[in-house]
Amino acid sequence: MPVIDGVKKLKKEMTEWRRDLHAHPELGFKEERTADVVAEKLESFGIPINRGLAKTGVIGTLTRGSSKRAIALRADMDALPLQEKNSFAHKSKHDGRMHACGHDGHTAMLLGAAKYIADAGDFDGTVHFIFQPAEEGGGGGKVMVREGLFKKFPCEGVYGMHNWPGMEAGVIGVRAGPMLASADFFSITITGVGGHGAMPHRANDPVVVGAEMVSVLQTIASRSADPVDAVVVSVTQFHAGSAGNVIPDEAKLSGTCRTLSDAGRDMVEERMRAIVKGVAEAHGVRADIRYHRGYPVLINSADETERARRAAAKVVGDDNVVIDPPPEMGAEDFAYMLQEKPGSYVWLGNGGAAGGCMLHNPNYDFNDDVAPIGASYWVSLVEQELAAQ
Ligand SMILES: [Zn+2]
Ligand SMILES: [Zn+2]
Repeated sequence: MPVIDGVKKLKKEMTEWRRDLHAHPELGFKEERTADVVAEKLESFGIPINRGLAKTGVIGTLTRGSSKRAIALRADMDALPLQEKNSFAHKSKHDGRMHACGHDGHTAMLLGAAKYIADAGDFDGTVHFIFQPAEEGGGGGKVMVREGLFKKFPCEGVYGMHNWPGMEAGVIGVRAGPMLASADFFSITITGVGGHGAMPHRANDPVVVGAEMVSVLQTIASRSADPVDAVVVSVTQFHAGSAGNVIPDEAKLSGTCRTLSDAGRDMVEERMRAIVKGVAEAHGVRADIRYHRGYPVLINSADETERARRAAAKVVGDDNVVIDPPPEMGAEDFAYMLQEKPGSYVWLGNGGAAGGCMLHNPNYDFNDDVAPIGASYWVSLVEQELAAQ
């Protein structure tokens, strides 16, 4: 089964849906028009829906036959607060909002799969089509889980997919274990004593202390982390001062930490707190740290990843399934669903990323040519996992 004929026939429709969504991007938890479009289409396919989980979430549930087995497929719906620089006809109609991560494509592909499966899907059991809000930082996946996603829609496994620029079109990447990083955020306020820029001995300069902290924090990744357990510590903001001849009384640092293991994640927070405290004490200033734990490490379970691999290979062939691509240090809130249920998240090659077409780039666009591949993967997975006994 390469790309399924019936899905190939839906390419034009999926492209229209995708471009309509691209032109009307909505931010996390505000995907009202998007949710209306999704709900209306699912109902037109004859799929019963549930709305309102995590505000704008939509879940379509389709049961066939008598098996009690169930799986869930998840797409995200939100856009980014970004000014689009494309000029094609379907460019964003909203200033400062853009589908720069391809969630328009994810939504269109899952709708395409739902349409095919409702029409012609050969399976015995239940499929939940999850359309999730607020992946981009809002943690819509976490909210859905908290509001009872898997209690209301029980399933044996949950599956996700993200388009991946830089990975060839026609290729699917699967990886067991950690695939995307945890994303934590910190801010540090250093309070010293302000004074005259010419008389530092009568002040206590928080800028010098902050600069030292930036340097010492790099030792978390370079000296404390196991070199084969990736860790990123990035101080991305440093704000202090207002004049050339004034030592300010306060400096603020903030940034993000990324890890691929829970142990690494704990270590980073512990070391950061110790370094900030120690450097501040050494200089007699006060330092307050706020450390926020964001998305957890995305960990694919081994069994479900093997199932995802088989389903992908049926569509693109064994040679076009990339097994165990190196993980990336970006994050993804599908990780919350994987904390509750076994499952697997795959990368769908979006084609060459030259010309500034990486995710979150103002010139990005989802590749409509890969939609039939992604939608066929969903169908393949459903027919494989819920095969009639
Ligand atoms: Zn994104
Ligand atoms: Zn994304």
